[in-house]
Amino acid sequence: MPFPPDILRVALPVPLPREFDYLPPAGQAAGPDWLGCRVRVPFGRGGGEQVGVVVGTGPASGDPAALKAAHERLDTAPLLRGELFDSLRWVAAYYHAPLGEVIATALPAALRAGQPLPDTRRHGWAATPAGHEAAARPGREGRPRRLLQELCEAPRDEDDLDQRSPGWRTAARALADRGLAERVVMEGVVPPRPIAAPRPTPGQAAAISALRTGEGFRPVLLEGVTGSGKTEVYLQAISDCLAAGRQALVLVPEIGLTPQTLSRFRARLGVPVLAFHSGLGDGERARAWADMASGRARVLVGTRSAVFCPLPEAGLLVVDEEHDGSYKQQDGVRYHARDLALVRASRLGVPVLLGSATPSLESLHNALSGRYRHLRLGERAGGARPPAVRVLDVRKRPLRDGLSDALLDAVGACLARGEQALVFKNRRGYAPVLLCHDCGWSAHCARCDAAMTVHAGGRRLVCHHCGARATPPNACPDCASLALQPQGAGTERLEQALAARFPEACLVRVDRETTRRRDALEKHLARLGDGPGILVGTQILAKGHDLPRLTLVAVVGVDEGLFSADFRAGEKLAQLLIQVAGRAGRARLPGEVVLQTHHPDHPLLGTLLNGGYPAVAALQLAEREAAAFPPYAHLALLRAEATTEADVQGFLHEAHAAFEAREGVHANGPMPAPMARRAGKARGQLLVDASQRNALHAALRDWLPALRALKSARRVRWSLDVDPTDL
Ligand code: ADP
Ligand code: ZN
Ligand code: ZN
Repeated sequence: MPFPPDILRVALPVPLPREFDYLPPAGQAAGPDWLGCRVRVPFGRGGGEQVGVVVGTGPASGDPAALKAAHERLDTAPLLRGELFDSLRWVAAYYHAPLGEVIATALPAALRAGQPLPDTRRHGWAATPAGHEAAARPGREGRPRRLLQELCEAPRDEDDLDQRSPGWRTAARALADRGLAERVVMEGVVPPRPIAAPRPTPGQAAAISALRTGEGFRPVLLEGVTGSGKTEVYLQAISDCLAAGRQALVLVPEIGLTPQTLSRFRARLGVPVLAFHSGLGDGERARAWADMASGRARVLVGTRSAVFCPLPEAGLLVVDEEHDGSYKQQDGVRYHARDLALVRASRLGVPVLLGSATPSLESLHNALSGRYRHLRLGERAGGARPPAVRVLDVRKRPLRDGLSDALLDAVGACLARGEQALVFKNRRGYAPVLLCHDCGWSAHCARCDAAMTVHAGGRRLVCHHCGARATPPNACPDCASLALQPQGAGTERLEQALAARFPEACLVRVDRETTRRRDALEKHLARLGDGPGILVGTQILAKGHDLPRLTLVAVVGVDEGLFSADFRAGEKLAQLLIQVAGRAGRARLPGEVVLQTHHPDHPLLGTLLNGGYPAVAALQLAEREAAAFPPYAHLALLRAEATTEADVQGFLHEAHAAFEAREGVHANGPMPAPMARRAGKARGQLLVDASQRNALHAALRDWLPALRALKSARRVRWSLDVDPTDL
């Protein structure tokens, strides 16, 4: 044993930008075989413990006699190694976050807490191909169906089922009798036989062959309108990847991972497809992680945090709807899953496929400048035609509950044809504002700079930012007038108005309120069935399900998005409109989109109507270049919040003073946050911009220690957001 003995350098999940030295547990020697293994160590006063990961070994930097010994080594083989470990270090450096916090973000909760890596060699139950088909069809609700849906997500371990749903065996037997499920050895689950792929369209064939040819890291942007067959390209590329004996990772937005999506992947690929999302239990997530780490699992489809799964035999990464905002983590380590997917693919030396009907301007810029291969799918697959778009100018027209007569007529005609209509409004609740008609008073949240939303037909006020609730006053608190009126319309009010106008139609509202439960969306859509009906909802509806009888999309209130201060507002609005419009006419029936607006001459709408998303994107890129905004510049945002405005300002001013000017990098502010007060806290921010990414990071590296040393920093909660998406 060397003397002084080597120590363990441990990354702990604490918000301190450093690692911690420990002696190895008594009787053990530190060495390179500890790297990437978890250890349980004493931490803090009062006998506290933490689980950390060994990120280095070597001689102690100080007096080893002053060090404590780790309590326990938790892994015999490293949990983190190779490319994944390196990529986590990249995340820590790029987002200027402590490595311990990055690791804690990357590991499933059970592993973070120190539980052993699950042993996945067990018996379990899996859906048969017939089961997958049955689950994709509407059917009788009940215990067997719930179990089948669960089995379609992933084969389930018997122990796991015992724990979570006692009595599951009766349901399993019922499924087995109908040939829908079977008992399997979880090791090497018998793959369902894949169903055949359709013949690729010429556009798809070009995309697939572009992925087949070449070697190493290849970023590809697949730009294709909704329904053009992007998913089909993913599936064939994944099949290639599997045939080459390699693993594939597919990232989808939060709202994109539906049982329908998973069933489609499972039915087509002929191997078990693991799901990974926040709706899974801790044990299931740890098991999926372990399965990918051991190579037993070959395909994982998951939301944002799935980007951290181990890929020891990687062959392909796919990011579906790459422009989607849910890929950016908005607290803790503020990583962007798409960007991390690119970094990982580059280190792994494999292709990465970014798909979208409405690519982010960042990706588009990379594609246009030749850094990414740019492939387009111009037409809808399977012969479906793009929907016709009509703008309803509602200036000086009476609106009843936010709806114009022309829009109601269009809905009525759609129902009369026996088809389905989607009425889209990105605002839940009854009305966005409660207003006094006599003096202009409106109901505001006491703790936020925001109006309270009217709910329950006017019987309740709710703040959508802090959750505060209140009973609406009977009279105006300022002028005692009784003329208090809900202004504008949210989905709840639209639902009421449509129900009154079309009492016969099946009406389904889909927003965050009606879809709290995980399977709620499925249930709602099942209720709609194949008959005539109306869906009313927020952007939850923009994506996901194929509704073959949906032929009309009516957009109510695009106007809020046309006049936002956020420099990304135009991009986001265009993306949302295209995604919602893409719900219409996806199958054989032709689709129609109507946009109800008070601003029919707004340039964004005109550009969108005449040139589609590419025209909007070109316009926005030119504006961004002229204004030196991303992707032509690089940003970092320092946010601060505190009980008093003075503390926020004090910190931000000192932070600005501590910022060392350098060429091409500027700190701007302090400026008010988009919501200067939220949940009782004052908030402010400072924006750093740079023409070169490297210069930005060099400046941030110098700045952070100075920030941490500020006395005023102790009176605020602050965070640094690299590549912020919400300014
Ligand atoms: P996207 O992912 O771009 O929205 P999908 O891959 O889901 O598009 O395709 C839209 C529809 O067209 C799906 O029902 C799909 O099964 C069908 N489809 C895709 N490619 C083909 C093809 N080559 N031939 C026939 N149908 C196809
Ligand atoms: Zn009043
Ligand atoms: Zn509030």
